[in-house]
Amino acid sequence: MQWYNKTSEEVFTELHSSNQGLSTEVAVQKLQEHGKNELKQESKTPFTQKLLAQLLDPMIIILVLASVVSAVVGEVIDALIIIAIVLINTALSLYQEGKAEAAIEALQKMSSPKAKIVRDGKRVEIDSTELVPGDYVILETGDIIPADLRLVDSANLKIDESSLTGESVPVEKDYKQTYEGKMEIGDRENIAYSSTIVSYGRGAGVVVETGENTEIGKIATSISTPEKEQTPLQKRLAGLSKTLGILVIGICLLVLVVGVLRKHEILEMFMTSISLAVAAVPEGLPAIVTIVLSLGMSKMAEKNAIVKKLLAVETLGTTTVICSDKTGTLTQNEMTVVKAYTDGEVYDVVGTGYNPNGEIVLNNESVDVKSKKGLNLLANIAALTNDAKLIQNNEEWGIIGDPTEGALLTFAEKAGYGIEDTNAKYARVEEIPFDSDRKMMTTFHSEFIKDKVISFTKGAPDIVLSNCKYFLDGEEVKELTEKDRENIMQKNSLFARDALRVLAYAYREWDSIPNKKTTENVENDMILVGLTGMIDPARPEAKEAIKECKSAGIIPIMITGDHLETGFAIAKELGIATEESQAIMGRELNELSDEQMRKVVREKRVFTRVSPENKVQIVQALKEEGHITAMTGDGVNDAPAIKKAHIGIAMGITGTDVAKSTAEVILTDDNFATIVHAVEEGRIIYSNIKKFVGFLLSCNLGEVLIVFIAILLNLPVPLLPIQLLWLNLVTDSFPALALGVEKGEAEIMEEPPRNPDEPLLDSELKLTIAIQSVAITIATLGAYMLGLQWYGNQEEGVAIARTMAFATLIISELLRSYSARSIKDTLFSIGIFSNRKLVWATLLSLALTLVVMEIPGVRELFKLTPLSLKDWVVILVGALIPLALGEIQKVIRFNKTHNSK
Ligand code: ATP
Repeated sequence: MQWYNKTSEEVFTELHSSNQGLSTEVAVQKLQEHGKNELKQESKTPFTQKLLAQLLDPMIIILVLASVVSAVVGEVIDALIIIAIVLINTALSLYQEGKAEAAIEALQKMSSPKAKIVRDGKRVEIDSTELVPGDYVILETGDIIPADLRLVDSANLKIDESSLTGESVPVEKDYKQTYEGKMEIGDRENIAYSSTIVSYGRGAGVVVETGENTEIGKIATSISTPEKEQTPLQKRLAGLSKTLGILVIGICLLVLVVGVLRKHEILEMFMTSISLAVAAVPEGLPAIVTIVLSLGMSKMAEKNAIVKKLLAVETLGTTTVICSDKTGTLTQNEMTVVKAYTDGEVYDVVGTGYNPNGEIVLNNESVDVKSKKGLNLLANIAALTNDAKLIQNNEEWGIIGDPTEGALLTFAEKAGYGIEDTNAKYARVEEIPFDSDRKMMTTFHSEFIKDKVISFTKGAPDIVLSNCKYFLDGEEVKELTEKDRENIMQKNSLFARDALRVLAYAYREWDSIPNKKTTENVENDMILVGLTGMIDPARPEAKEAIKECKSAGIIPIMITGDHLETGFAIAKELGIATEESQAIMGRELNELSDEQMRKVVREKRVFTRVSPENKVQIVQALKEEGHITAMTGDGVNDAPAIKKAHIGIAMGITGTDVAKSTAEVILTDDNFATIVHAVEEGRIIYSNIKKFVGFLLSCNLGEVLIVFIAILLNLPVPLLPIQLLWLNLVTDSFPALALGVEKGEAEIMEEPPRNPDEPLLDSELKLTIAIQSVAITIATLGAYMLGLQWYGNQEEGVAIARTMAFATLIISELLRSYSARSIKDTLFSIGIFSNRKLVWATLLSLALTLVVMEIPGVRELFKLTPLSLKDWVVILVGALIPLALGEIQKVIRFNKTHNSK
C-alpha cells in the first residue's frame, strides 16, 4: 500500500503522530534512524585536488623548473629556498581559499530552508533537514514543501508541481481524498511532494518520506552544486592579469636578451627573468578579489543582509534605483486600528499596539457596540475573516500571523468580543483566502443567521465597494447610489490622507454554501458595512536611509498594494515624494506602451494598488532606462519581479520560501535601511578592490622597472631571484588583503553610483600606478646605486647595495600601502592606525623581512648582508618617497587636507 492509499488517520497511526506533532524525544530518535532530510551534496572538491590545482599553476611550474635548473648547476640551497617559498605561498593560498569558502558556506546555512511544524504540541520552525517521518508540517502560500507529505488538512490548497512533473498549472489538493490502487504522481491529490510550491491556500501534512526517499530524491539523487559563475569584475580582472602577464613576460624576455648582450652570466639572467616574471605577473589578483568579495558577504550578513551570490556584492555597489515595498520595509508593520466608519459615523478606537485594552468612542463618549448593528457587524467581520492570533507574553501583547489581521483582532476585543468565543460560535465552513491580486478575503459561517450561510468579506475599499450592490444603513439594507459610493470613497480618502491603511467590510447571505470555484460570483452583490483605518508608523531609520539614498544618487521608489492616498502620505513623510502627481495606481500601467511606461518610471516615485505583474513592468521599464534596479518582494507572485531585477531582495521575516529562493539578497530584518547599508558596503568593497589592485600593480611594475633599468644601465642585477620571490610571494599579499577590508571613505554615499561599465583602472588609478611605480623605482634604484658607489662594484659591495635595495623596496611598498588606503582622503584625515588589519599585516611583513635580513644564517641564505646606520638612513628616506608622493597627489588632485571634508 502506498501512502496515498491510506487515510490521514491511518497515516497518523502508522507514524505514531497526531495533529500535536511528534515529541522532541521521538523526533531525535527518528532522525538517527532515518538520517537527515537532504539530498546528497555533490562531494566538495577534495583537499588533494585543491592542492594539485595550486601546484599546477603555470607560475609555480616555472618556479619548480627554475629550482631544478638551480640544483643541476650546483645552487642546491637556492633551489631549496625556492621550493620553500613555493610551499609557503601554496599554504597561504589554500588557507585563504578555505576561509573564503567557509564564509560562503556559513552564509548558505543562514539562508537554508526552514519548515513550520508542530512539535510537542507547539508551533515551531526548524531546519528542513531535521524533518523526520511523522512530523506535522504547516503549509502556507509561498512555502516550498520540505519533504513528501500526506496531507491532513487543506483549504483551497493549490500546489505548483512543475519542478517534479513539469506540469505548469498548479494542481488542487484535497486531504480528504483516498485512492484504491495505483495513481500517477500528478493525480495524487492527498500528497504534497518535496520541493514543489504552495501557490495558493493553506494546509498541513504529515511527513511520510524524507531525503532520498522522496519522489524528487529518487529522480535527483544528488544536487549538483551550481557552477561557480564569475562576476564581471572577476572576469575583467582575469583578463587584466592575463594582458599584464603577457606584457610582463615580454619585458622579462627583453631583460634576458639585454642582460645577455650586456655580458651578464646566462644562468644568472635566466633565473632573474624567471623570478621577475613570477614576482610581477599579477596572477593572484582574481583570487584576492574573490576573497575580498566573500569577506564582504560576511560583513553584509552581520548587517542583516544575506547575499547569496558574489555577483550581487558587486552589483549592489552600482545600484541606481531601489524599489521597495511599503508595509514592513518602510513601515514598522505594527498596525493599530484607530478609526472605524459605519452607519454615517466616524468612531475613534482608543489604545495602542496589540494590547486589547481600549474602547470605541464617539465624540469622546464610550460606545456600547452591541447596540449598534453596523459597528457590531464590523467587529464580527474583523474577528472572523481572520487567521491571526493574539498572544500575551508577560505584559507584552503580540501576534502570530498577518499584522493587518492582528490589529483587527485587537479592535474586535476592544469592541467587546471575546475572539475565541466568537470563533467557536460561528465556525468557518468555507473560505477564499486573501491574495494580493484580489486584495480581498472571504469566509463563510453557518451559525450566524439561523438556517442561512453568511459570507463575510474584508479587503481594499475600492475593490470591496465595487463588488457591493447594497449598504447597511442603520438596521436597513439599501441599494448603493452613485452618491453613496462617492460618500464612502470620500471617507476612505479622509482616512488615507492621514496615512491610514483602510479596509472595507461587507457581507452577503446565502441559502447554502456556494460553489467556491466560481470565486467571482461569490464576492459580489455584497452589502457594505463600513471601513476601518489603521496606522502603520513609518520606520524612523527609513527616513534617514532615504536621505542617504538621495545623496548617493540612488532613486528610492515605493511600491505598495495599499491605496494611493495612504501610500503617498507615507512616501511624503519619508521624503520619497513631494507631490501627489508623483504617485500612480497600478491599474493605470496596464495599458501603457513601453515608451509610456519609461516616461512613467522617470516621473513617478510611488506606485500603489500594484499587482505582481505591475512590478515586473516597472523593473522592465527601469532597466530600459538604463537603471541598475534593486526590487524587494515577499509573496509567491513577486518571484518574477525579483528575478527580473538586477538585485532581487526578499524579506527574511515575512517573505515566502519562493521569494527567498529567487532573490539574490535576503533581509533578515525586513528593513529598508538594511538595503541602503548593503549598497554602501558594495560601494566600499569595490573601492577597496581598486585600492589593492592599484597597490599590487604599482609594486609589481616597480619591481620590473628596477631590474630592467639596472640592466639597461649596465649595473649588476639589483635583486636576486630568491629575494624577488620572497618579497613578492610572502610580503605583498598581507597588506593587499588588509586593504580589501578598509572601512571606506566617509563620503562614499555622497557620490553618484558608479557606471558598471567603467574600467577598473580608471585614469586616476592609472596615474597613481604610474607615479607610484616610478617613485618605488627611483627610491630603490637610488639606494642601490648609492650602495654601489659607497661600497664598490665588487662582490661584497654589490651584496650590501642589494641588501639596501631589498630593504628600500619592501619598506617603501609597506609604507605606500598606507597611502593606498584612500583614493582621495589623506592618511592624516583617515587616521594612520585606523585599519588595524593593515597595521598587523605590515608588522608581519616587516617581521618577515627582518627575519631574512637580521638573523645570521638565514641572512646568508638570502645573500643579504648586515647594514650600517648610514645605510638605514638612506633606506628610510628612500622608502618615504612613494608615500609622500601619494599623499601629495591626493592634495593636488582633490584639494583635500585633513581638516576639510
Ligand atoms: P506592500 O505591497 O507595500 O507590502 P500591502 O501590504 O498593502 O503593501 P498587499 O499585502 O498586497 O500589499 O495588500 C494589498 C491590499 O489588500 C491592502 O492595501 C489592503 O487593502 C488589502 N489587504 C491586505 N491584507 C489583507 C487581509 N489580510 N485581508 C483582506 N484584505 C487585505
